[in-house]
Amino acid sequence: MGAGVENLWEDDRLLATRPGGGHFSMELNRRCLFESVCGNNCFLLARRAPESKILTREEVVTIAEEGLACGEELLHFNAAGMEPFDKSPDEPEPVIFALLERWHAMPACRRPTTFNAITSGALLTRYVDRLREVPLSSLIVSVDDAPTSGLRSRNAGGHALAEGLRVREAGGCVRLCVNTVLTDNNEDQVLAIGRVVAEAGADQWMISPLRVSDGTRMEAAVSGDALISFGQRVDRVLRGCRSAVRVILDVPHNTVVRAAGGGARRISEWSGWCWRWPLENLEIELQAFCPQSRFLRVRWDGELLQKDELHAVGLRTSALGRYQPGSIRRVIRSWRKVGKICGCNAAPESLAAEVHGAKF
Ligand code: SF4
Repeated sequence: MGAGVENLWEDDRLLATRPGGGHFSMELNRRCLFESVCGNNCFLLARRAPESKILTREEVVTIAEEGLACGEELLHFNAAGMEPFDKSPDEPEPVIFALLERWHAMPACRRPTTFNAITSGALLTRYVDRLREVPLSSLIVSVDDAPTSGLRSRNAGGHALAEGLRVREAGGCVRLCVNTVLTDNNEDQVLAIGRVVAEAGADQWMISPLRVSDGTRMEAAVSGDALISFGQRVDRVLRGCRSAVRVILDVPHNTVVRAAGGGARRISEWSGWCWRWPLENLEIELQAFCPQSRFLRVRWDGELLQKDELHAVGLRTSALGRYQPGSIRRVIRSWRKVGKICGCNAAPESLAAEVHGAKF
């Protein structure tokens, strides 16, 4: 989610207004209609948090408000679920709306520049009007090929795109993105999804590798090189589509470094990890988190995860430990010491040196 959001919103102008900014993401719940469909193929479900540790609604609000209060140091607030539009029977509405109200009530200079959510889309129908009142910056819907990825159902995927378009048309989000998972045997199906996504007029289509658990970590099931050669197929297939969807490939950082030679260029003066790669027809963007990027995520059991812990599964204690009052503020304020965006003062130059003369 982080890479897609950065790519969708960040440019030199935005980064100049918030040069120390990073991401703050929250897992708002551990509920989703598709639990039984996705099983351990769900990155979030694979963690199997015990009920006793799950954050209550009140705790979610308290932690999120602490994050929002650090808004001047943040570029993005991201709401993940499992399903951010789900709620328990005793809640009046999903907690995301309380957070959106809070964000909208803040002065723009004091809040994170964007508020984004990722969803299966299954419950969007009931919240179109509510989202019109408190719109998201971006709505990210997951559209997958169920038989090969094991994620959701095909019908739900089609529904997600249609509902996402409805929300955008109604003014419930500014931009609409689609995320699709690539496995080692679903290229044709993903290309078919891409055609639909492009023709439908989504703002961005992001392709990420399926991540599978080895018991301790989630590892990508598709190599960076395979993702890049798939990008070339995307380029050929989307040629001739009427709308110009932005295509993002979520590839490992070292693959970006190697592949971004030739005509590729950095998207932003400020960013060392996001490269635009012009193909014959499209400009595909290669995206990877810089090793130093600033990313704090609150897991649904209250553990605070930094970027290098995001792929961990299980319930091992994270390096930062469980949330305590003030801990979000302390982590976000500590980013100031690192330097400007991504902590990458030096990285763009070193990255440029690495790709100089690279063969691709
Ligand atoms: S739809 Fe998404 S959040 Fe829900 S179980 Fe599947 S992968 Fe997990």
